[in-house]
Amino acid sequence: MIIGIPRGLLYYRYKHLWLNFFEELGIDYIVSPETNKEIVTSGMAYAVDEACITSKIYLGHVEWLLDKCDYILVPRISDCGSAGKVCTKFQAIYDLAANTFRDRNIKLLYYNVDSSVADSEMAAFLKMGRFLGRKKSRCLYAYFKGKQAQKNAQFLELNEQQHLLKENKIKILIIAHRYTIFDKYLGEPILKHLHKLDTVPIIGDIAPKKEAIAKSVEISETLPWAFNRELVGSIILYRDRVDGIILVSAFPCGPDSLVNEIIIRKIKDKPVLNLVIDGQEGMAGIETRLESFVDIIRFKKGEFTWKQ
Ligand code: SF4
Repeated sequence: MIIGIPRGLLYYRYKHLWLNFFEELGIDYIVSPETNKEIVTSGMAYAVDEACITSKIYLGHVEWLLDKCDYILVPRISDCGSAGKVCTKFQAIYDLAANTFRDRNIKLLYYNVDSSVADSEMAAFLKMGRFLGRKKSRCLYAYFKGKQAQKNAQFLELNEQQHLLKENKIKILIIAHRYTIFDKYLGEPILKHLHKLDTVPIIGDIAPKKEAIAKSVEISETLPWAFNRELVGSIILYRDRVDGIILVSAFPCGPDSLVNEIIIRKIKDKPVLNLVIDGQEGMAGIETRLESFVDIIRFKKGEFTWKQ
């Protein structure tokens, strides 16, 4: 049996947990490739126009996996417990994938997390493991191994980021969902260009989550979405150690459009650039905006030299 895992959305958040879980259960898996033009085109063809570009791309990844595995892991996650709700896309994507590809006989692995009906993350993994024919004790062990792997990976990336924060270069905080900024097609060109401009991108999504959630109230006390609360809180955690902030959103993201407005109105002591990417624009316009933004920061720091 082979499990297909689309490289999109929550894969970027939970990949260590998921991959280690299947490895411990002795179940083979295949992860779809890095996002490329074909996957984007395929996702766009299947999705409705109004969907955000990241969920369109996700459908492209699901489509890529269709004939290559027995079941596809498409989680349905309703909330993060006390940390807050999640965007409706994470609640809907399971049904969206099931209905979009029903004529292609898609088989999805059932993975449902909804604390309002006592469907915890652990319960979801136990159900998944038992469906795959593994004993409860083994599933429990695999789940805890996966959680530990996830924790270790978070610790390592936090450590790495602490080193980056000490670099003697312009540092720019990137406020973006992990599945946007680490996507090869959407976010990676932005990070590459910032490196090319001799700046250090600091990733807002790499922050101590509980601390970030607690700090988020300093910007807004009423945000319902857990992932946005983490990002907003990371601004408070990192603002004194960076020179500017770039908000990167996938068009047309509802939660980000509201949250970014709040951030722009509340953060007055740092330059803020708001970038909305739609996957079609090409990089020329974005590169120009990044260059102007870095020039503004250099100017503020007295490092700007005008070249004719
Ligand atoms: S938070 Fe925004 S980008 Fe993420 S899935 Fe929801 S609408 Fe899409």
